[in-house]
Amino acid sequence: MSDPVFLPAAHPPTWLGVMGGGQLGRMFAQAAQAMGYRVAVLEPSADCPAGQVAERLVEAGYEDAAGLDALAAQCVAVTTEFENVPAGSLSRLAERVFVAPGAQGVSVAQDRIAEKRFFVDCAPKSGVMPAPHKVIASFEDVDAIADDLLPGILKTVRMGYDGKGQVRVRSREDVRAAFESMGQVSCLLEKMLPLAYEVSVLTARGADGASSVYPIAENVHRDGILFTTTVPGPNVSSECARKAQDAARVIVAELGYVGVLCIEFFVLADGSLVVNEMAPRPHNSGHYTIDACVTSQFAQQVRAMARLPLGDCRQHSPAVMLNILGDVWFDGDSDTPREPAWDRVLALPGANLHLYGKEDPRRGRKMGHVTFVAPTLEDAQQQLQAACAILGIEL
Ligand code: ATP
Ligand code: MG
Repeated sequence: MSDPVFLPAAHPPTWLGVMGGGQLGRMFAQAAQAMGYRVAVLEPSADCPAGQVAERLVEAGYEDAAGLDALAAQCVAVTTEFENVPAGSLSRLAERVFVAPGAQGVSVAQDRIAEKRFFVDCAPKSGVMPAPHKVIASFEDVDAIADDLLPGILKTVRMGYDGKGQVRVRSREDVRAAFESMGQVSCLLEKMLPLAYEVSVLTARGADGASSVYPIAENVHRDGILFTTTVPGPNVSSECARKAQDAARVIVAELGYVGVLCIEFFVLADGSLVVNEMAPRPHNSGHYTIDACVTSQFAQQVRAMARLPLGDCRQHSPAVMLNILGDVWFDGDSDTPREPAWDRVLALPGANLHLYGKEDPRRGRKMGHVTFVAPTLEDAQQQLQAACAILGIEL
């Protein structure tokens, strides 16, 4: 591919491609279609959230050469909706079509060691460091763990998400057992930090190097899964917001990245900021942008990959996003199925319901989200409380 800077913008109704058929691909497709593009999705399973709405589903494995070539032949640009897309597939696509984000940025985010190294390298400019950590690739590494890294969290280097592939450890013996139970795959031990709260910053960078940063979002996780995102974050000081946004701008530029990137940070009890990880795509904590910002994170991804000017990240309403898991399709802790009372949730004036078209509600499975927008944050929070009471979600 020639230098993206010199490629003209790809106007609708050309085709945009997306690797992966999950809910992020679905919401990407909806945003692209709203702008007049046609969307092709590559995904091995026929009935997938993105495949239900895209004009074309290329039913193929993520590494299937014929499938990748079909996607490249149809589209003027291709993006990804899941973090663990094989970097080799992005490289293959990039020989034929503009790919954003590119294989290089995605592969850094896929590998916790590369990601940490990148954050450390950026620190002189970004002003933020990752948590103290050590690579654990052998039992000798376990023996060499410094005392002050414990207690900690042992994380697999690759394929972790929603808190999967993580074990909390207090001692070297715990680390040894956890490393063994994970099949001795490469891991990273991170010092357990005293988190006051967690935030994320969505950023986007265009092929021309222009970047934009969304407001900082405050995230609450439950059982390792994002539970709510609140923007503006009730705990976030303006100084913390500025630091995180400045750091995000540096990180996305240093990565030479094109597209939407989400960066997760920890805020510690003493107010200091620690960079945790990044997702090379729109992110669950950015879903609020659909209903509360001038340009949604998905529309921004379309603009970046189509080499259009980036849109305004301004938030026009305070917002609280609630993830809807399969649990709400069951009565309490029982196996008795029920239909959530969407009519009552939608009676709340600021409620925006997004369901992803998944037929099989399982506990812990992300089925959709609701974003409450309101003139004040207190109002949005009250609507969240009311919705949780209706859906039987404990707050
Ligand atoms: P996801 O893909 O859902 O963002 P993940 O599985 O990639 O998650 P992390 O984001 O690294 O994993 O960790 C999941 C959660 O565990 C964090 O949001 C945070 O609550 C907690 N956590 C992770 N690392 C640390 C740490 N070093 N100290 C304290 N808590 C941590
Ligand atoms: Mg995370």
